[in-house]
Amino acid sequence: MNIQNYINGEFVNPVSNNWLDNYNPSNGEVYSQIPNSSSEDVANAYKSAAEAFPKWSNSTLEERSRILIKISELLESNLERFAMAESKDNGKPLSLAREIDIPRAASNFRFFGNAITQFASESHESVGLNAVNFTLRQPIGVVGCISPWNLPLYLFTWKIAPAIAAGNCVVAKPSEVTPMTAYLLGEICTEAGLPKGVLNIVHGLGTTTGQAIVEHPNIKAISFTGGTETGAHIARVAAPMFKKLSLELGGKNPNIIFADCDYENMLATTVRSSFANQGQICLCGSRIFVEEAIFEKFKKDFVQKVKQLKVGHPSDKNTNIGALVSKSHLEKVENYVKIAEDEGGKILCGGLEVTIEGFENGYYMQPTIIEIETNQCRINQEEVFGPVVTIMSFKTDEEALQLANDVKYGLSATLWTNNLNRTMQFSKQLQTGIVWVNTWMLRDLRTPFGGAKESGVGREGGFEALRFFTEPKNVCIKY
Ligand code: NDP
Repeated sequence: MNIQNYINGEFVNPVSNNWLDNYNPSNGEVYSQIPNSSSEDVANAYKSAAEAFPKWSNSTLEERSRILIKISELLESNLERFAMAESKDNGKPLSLAREIDIPRAASNFRFFGNAITQFASESHESVGLNAVNFTLRQPIGVVGCISPWNLPLYLFTWKIAPAIAAGNCVVAKPSEVTPMTAYLLGEICTEAGLPKGVLNIVHGLGTTTGQAIVEHPNIKAISFTGGTETGAHIARVAAPMFKKLSLELGGKNPNIIFADCDYENMLATTVRSSFANQGQICLCGSRIFVEEAIFEKFKKDFVQKVKQLKVGHPSDKNTNIGALVSKSHLEKVENYVKIAEDEGGKILCGGLEVTIEGFENGYYMQPTIIEIETNQCRINQEEVFGPVVTIMSFKTDEEALQLANDVKYGLSATLWTNNLNRTMQFSKQLQTGIVWVNTWMLRDLRTPFGGAKESGVGREGGFEALRFFTEPKNVCIKY
């Protein structure tokens, strides 16, 4: 089956007729081909978006809202088809795609379909000067949205929905590794009545197709989610053209556990925050710091629970951990386990590949816990982005805070305590964009989302996203 680009409301082959293989991570087999798009395809997508822009940017909020909500409803009525496609393309358990990925993609469209009708701008009366100022928030024009493979449709739509809600037209590229649900989204957009050219989806490699989007002189803003190195590269390319940039990048998130927490809730949530989606979530808590008083108990209980997780085929309903996204990613993660061992880390469980009967060439790996002695080692300083966490103990609040902040990343942190003073102190002093206290990944789409330090620039979510995708213009009227 061939995936095609979606340009000007039509499914089209790449101009060059070059194609890339798309793998099924559960069995290691090629199951579809995707366009290896060039700058010519990106130029065609831009042209179609630019032509659609005058009309779309002048459409009423009611019209945009109605179409976005219709897309959301169609995703919901096609839930099973999308969930199966996502699971097959990414290797994640079907149950996860069904419960999290696709419902969230639908929520993204519904949320921004509603949010745009509530989005307001400021106005200031200049008292004594007989003047009034107000801010027009106008769509930027044609914008680029580039997303990664870990939560494919979830993150793709997290960008596209606010971009089009705000009146922009979009040239978007999903990850080359997980293109399938983005491809299927084109059909849904047409069925929902999204005018031709408002959304254009171009498939291909980051270094060619993605690069062409970032380099296009008339694509005025780039919303990117992916690795920190790629983000830095994109920033270097985009800066001389003064493009607006939103960068959601990597993480190495601390999970700080105090003895006074609600232990059972913490334990169950920590299993999830460590290994959900095979640990391939930018928000996973990969560095676990535990107060000394409960360290030995936690270690025993955590290892025991993690050993019970079932690694299996994504469509098996008993599977907790599916396949990693690609062979090269599996190799990268395995290499980090070796690095950790060389650094003196002690593997408490996991660390090995898993062979699933009937799917011997799939990319499966055991969930892995490594006990370490110091935070200053590669396994705790570099993003692994797989089913691997480390644990180490701490004695005082000051030490825990120092360990948590002692990393170049600053995406999220999780804190387990019932002490209110400690909660406030940590919330203020953790150098991250998001702090979860006594929970993990509880998301309210109105909240600002993004990272500090090398985890990104800018915030998405709620009105922050609508602010990013609009240009503020102050109008001063003297009367
Ligand atoms: P990458 O940075 O490799 O790729 C992300 C996207 O950028 C892909 O679509 C990729 O295309 C594209 N790309 C690659 N190079 C370029 C380029 N030169 N110009 C334009 N686009 C390019 O990340 P991964 O896909 O490997 O995703 C994992 C990373 O994403 C992790 O670091 C993770 O932490 C981060 N992430 C951050 C989140 C956040 O909200 N902060 C959320 C989820 C993930 P292609 O796939 O074809 O290479």
